[in-house]
Amino acid sequence: MDQAGYTPVSALGEFRLIDRMTSKFSSYHEQVLKGIGDDAAVVKTADGMVDVISTDLLIEKVHFDLSYVPLKHLGYKAVIVNLSDVVAMNAQPYGITVSIGMSNRFPVEALDELYAGIHQACKQYNVNLLGGDTTSSKVGLVISITALGREKEEKITYRSGAQKNDLVCVSGDLGGAYAGYLILEREKRVFLDKPELQPDLSDYDYVVGRQLKPEARIDILQTLEKVGVQPTAMVDISDGIASEIHHICNQSKCGAKIYSNKLPIDFQTVSVAEEFKISQNTFALNGGEDYELMFTIPLADFSKIQRVPEIQVIGSITEEKNSVFFILDDGSQIDLEAQGFQHFSSEELIEGNQLEQEM
Ligand code: ADP
Ligand code: MG
Repeated sequence: MDQAGYTPVSALGEFRLIDRMTSKFSSYHEQVLKGIGDDAAVVKTADGMVDVISTDLLIEKVHFDLSYVPLKHLGYKAVIVNLSDVVAMNAQPYGITVSIGMSNRFPVEALDELYAGIHQACKQYNVNLLGGDTTSSKVGLVISITALGREKEEKITYRSGAQKNDLVCVSGDLGGAYAGYLILEREKRVFLDKPELQPDLSDYDYVVGRQLKPEARIDILQTLEKVGVQPTAMVDISDGIASEIHHICNQSKCGAKIYSNKLPIDFQTVSVAEEFKISQNTFALNGGEDYELMFTIPLADFSKIQRVPEIQVIGSITEEKNSVFFILDDGSQIDLEAQGFQHFSSEELIEGNQLEQEM
């Protein structure tokens, strides 16, 4: 509490804050199978089907920096971030609404670019633009997207379904988007100092692409279906696996072991980690925005995914509630604290424009 008796938002952190704001709300409709607390809400429709609904808000200078993010990429990524939450429920996205607030410094051509990216994502993922809202903003560009998906009820995967001895898997590779972010931030500073220098990003094309143009891993759902594996729990990796594994363990009332030597990390991510003198494990554990999937499967299904190149087993589920250990190459264990981003700091609150810091 401060002197006036008010609690700064930074004292709670994002998850406790959401809990405090929402805990008094009741469900008035039995068709709502899941409200707050997963990647998306789940609402029963007809014939054993459910709709899943997820929403996200992106604010200029908090979530994106227009000095190096092209508007077309921003539009594409804003859609992907939402589709990824639907996919993390094992559901098929079918529609989005897009609401934007923009200042008058944006010409019509800038919005054309933003919507070209949104359009490309809709085409790529077979998703309808259902509607939205447009308004002016005095604080820069604001984009809010809601994504809708549909699936058979029995296919939906919640964060709460992991069982003891299940295997923890991830798709793709980890930490690349964070590596790309560090490179783009560094080049931006160089450019501000010496605008005549053109950045050469050719050595960093993969990680910069991971940051600017992520994909929602619908293809992994198809692969899992093909090999006959239904995940027991699933999340998308927006904040880094250290935080995401806690989401699964909290809700599934279990623990986990994650093995350092199993983490899939691209060689370009490794070389950026070396350049910045940061451990590659830190990139893989805490780097956000990869939008890969993390899921648990029964041990008995191991042989079905063993040879799938895009899926890597990184650990297993244990019985001990909320104890998440990271096992290093020498066999020693580190207690993996929930490193969910402390999105709010008092300094940022004073500045007033940086309420949420994803990276
Ligand atoms: P994600 O990272 O997957 O987008 P969040 O961490 O933003 O999810 O949100 C966690 C849960 O809290 C979700 O179920 C979300 O719908 C809910 N939530 C977040 N902010 C609010 C809010 N202001 N009011 C009500 N529910 C919220
Ligand atoms: Mg999510």
